Amino acid sequence: MPVKTENIRNFCIIAHIDHGKSTLADRLLERCHTISTKDMKEQVLDDMELERERGITIRSHAIRMEYTYNKDGETYILNLIDTPGHVDFSYEVSRSLAACEGALLLVDASQGIEAQTISNFWLALDADLTIIPVTNKIDLPHAQTDSTTAQIMELMDVEDSEVLRCSAKSGIGIEEILAAVIERIPPPSGTSEAPLKALIFNSDYDKYRGVIAYVRVFEGTVKKGDKVYMFGTDSDWEVLEPGVFRLGKIPVDDLRAGEAGYLICGIKDVHELKVGDTVTHAATKADTPLPGYKEPKPMVFSGMYPENPDHYNELKDAIERLTLNDSAITFEPDTSVSLGFGFRCGFLGMLHMEIVQERLDREYGLDIINTLPSVVYNIVYADGRTEFINNPAHFPDLAGVQRIEEPILKAQIVSPNEYIGAIMKLTLERRGIHIRTEYLDPTRVNMVYELPLSEIVYEFYDRLKSVTRGYASFDYEFDGYREADVIKLEILINGEPVDALSTILHKSKAEPIGRVLASKLKKLIPRQMFQVAIQAAIGSKVIARTNIKALRKNVTAKCYGGDITRKRKLLEKQKEGKKRMKSVGNVRIPQEAFLAVLKTDS
Ligand code: GDP
Ligand code: MG
Repeated sequence: MPVKTENIRNFCIIAHIDHGKSTLADRLLERCHTISTKDMKEQVLDDMELERERGITIRSHAIRMEYTYNKDGETYILNLIDTPGHVDFSYEVSRSLAACEGALLLVDASQGIEAQTISNFWLALDADLTIIPVTNKIDLPHAQTDSTTAQIMELMDVEDSEVLRCSAKSGIGIEEILAAVIERIPPPSGTSEAPLKALIFNSDYDKYRGVIAYVRVFEGTVKKGDKVYMFGTDSDWEVLEPGVFRLGKIPVDDLRAGEAGYLICGIKDVHELKVGDTVTHAATKADTPLPGYKEPKPMVFSGMYPENPDHYNELKDAIERLTLNDSAITFEPDTSVSLGFGFRCGFLGMLHMEIVQERLDREYGLDIINTLPSVVYNIVYADGRTEFINNPAHFPDLAGVQRIEEPILKAQIVSPNEYIGAIMKLTLERRGIHIRTEYLDPTRVNMVYELPLSEIVYEFYDRLKSVTRGYASFDYEFDGYREADVIKLEILINGEPVDALSTILHKSKAEPIGRVLASKLKKLIPRQMFQVAIQAAIGSKVIARTNIKALRKNVTAKCYGGDITRKRKLLEKQKEGKKRMKSVGNVRIPQEAFLAVLKTDS
C-alpha cells in the first residue's frame, strides 16, 4: 500500500560531535519500534567498527520509521537520514541535507554551541531546511539548559518556545521531538506521475550485490525492472531491487516521489556511481538533473609505502579493495629513492587520511610508511599555463613560474572568551587572517579566520586543544586559492636529497622545520665509517646543517668472552636490521629513522 506523500517526513539530525546525535537516533528508532529490544545496542546506526570506537559517523545512513501520531491518529513515515559529522565529508553532508526537508539541530546543554553547530546550521539554512533546535542532555547535573537555549535563540533568531529540550539518554522530550518533526517539517512536494528524478545522496558496497545507491526520490516512481539513466556518469542501468532501510534492507515494489530508500542496479564498481548524481528513466528522461552535483576532490595527499618492500602487492591489493567502498580515495603508483615502490594517495582531508591509514593497518595488517602530507598547489607559469601539483617530486623550477597559489579555508573557532589571546597567537603562527570575533553569549566567542590548509595539516587541532585546555572547537570550509610564497624544502644526506623527506611549505616555515628534521635525523641515523653531513636546503641554498661523526663499529666486540649463541643471535639481529636499511648515496639509514621522522611532525 503506497504511503500518502503528506504523511512522509524526511529529516536529519545535525550536531557537533558528541552532542548526542547517535543517542537521539537510538531513542527515535526505539520509540517507533523500528528495532526490537533484543537488537537494540548503543548507536545502532554506526555499524562500522571504527565508527563505534571513535564515536563518529563516517558514512551516512537512512532509516525508515513508522509513527502513529496520537493527535490525529495518522501513521507517518519518518525517514531519518543520518549525515557524516566531519568537514572532510562536507560534500556528502550537503547531499544528505539535500535529501531532507528538515533538520533537528542538537546542542549539548553542558557544552553550548560549538564550531560544528554553527557550520551545520548554515549548511542546513543554505539547503532551505526547516530547522528544529533542540537542547540535549538536560539530565546532566551541570547542564546549562537556559544559557545554551539562549545561545541557540541568538544564533538562529528564534523564540524560546521554539527550542525543544530533551535528554536523548534518559528519553525525556522524545515525544515532543516526534511531534515537532510532524508539525513543523513540511511533507515532500513532487508527484509520483512526473518523470523520475531521484538524488543519489550516498552509496555503499556489498560484496555480493555490488553498489547500493541511497536515493531520495523527488519526482516520479521507480520500480523493479525499470531501465534507468544516470546524468553524471551518462550511463544506463536496470533496477534489480528497490528497497527501504529498516535496520537492514527491505525490498519494496516501488519508491515514489517523497520517499527515501535504495536502488541496486547491478553496478559492480563504485566509481561508476557518483554521490550527488540524479537517476531518471532511460526512456522518459527528466529534462534536467537535480542541482548540486560535484565531483569530490581530494584535498590532502600523502605517499604510502610498505614498510617491508616485499609487501608492495599486498598494499596495492588492500588499497584497491578499500576504494571499493570509498570512492573518494584516489591513488597512483609512485616510487621513491629512499622508500621504494608505493602509492601517492589523495584524501578528502586529514580525518579521511587517518581513517584510511587505520583501516589498512586494522583490516589488512599492513605496516605502512606515510610521507608528510601535502595540500594541492596551483602553479601559474609565466606563459599563463596552470598546473595543480600535490607531490614535492613535481615541484617545478621556479624560473618559469609567475606565482604559486595555495588552498585557503574559512575557519571558525568557538571557545570561552578567556582563550582569545591564546587562539590569536596560535592562528598568527599559522598565518591566519582574523576576519571577525562575535560573542555567542557573554562568555563564549566565535572567531572567524582565513587559514591556509597547509597550516592545519600539521597538528593544528591538537595545538588548539592544548592552548585552550580542550575547550575550543574548530570547523572550516574550503574558500578558494590565494597566492603564497611557497618553496620546496629538501633534506640532503652527504649531498644526496632524501626524497621521502622533501616537502612543499611556506618560506617562513622552511628554516625552523628544516632544522627540526635535520636534528631528528642526526639522532636517528647510526654513526657510519665516515662523517655524514645532514643539510636542509631550498634549491642550492643550504639553510640548516649538522654532522654525524665517523665511527668504526664492531658489534661483536662486546661479545668477547660471552657464549657463542649470544654472539650468533646478535649477528642475526644485525643481518635482519640490514635488510631494513635504506641507502641514500653511500649512507645506510635504518627504516625506523624515516618512520620516526615522518611520524612526529612539527
Ligand atoms: P554524537 O557524536 O553526536 O553521535 O554523540 P553520541 O550520541 O555518541 O553521544 C556522545 C556521548 O554523550 C555518549 O557518551 C552519550 O551516551 C552521551 N549522551 C548523549 N545524549 C545524552 C543525554 O541526553 N544525556 C546524557 N547524560 N548523556 C548523553
Ligand atoms: Mg555518532
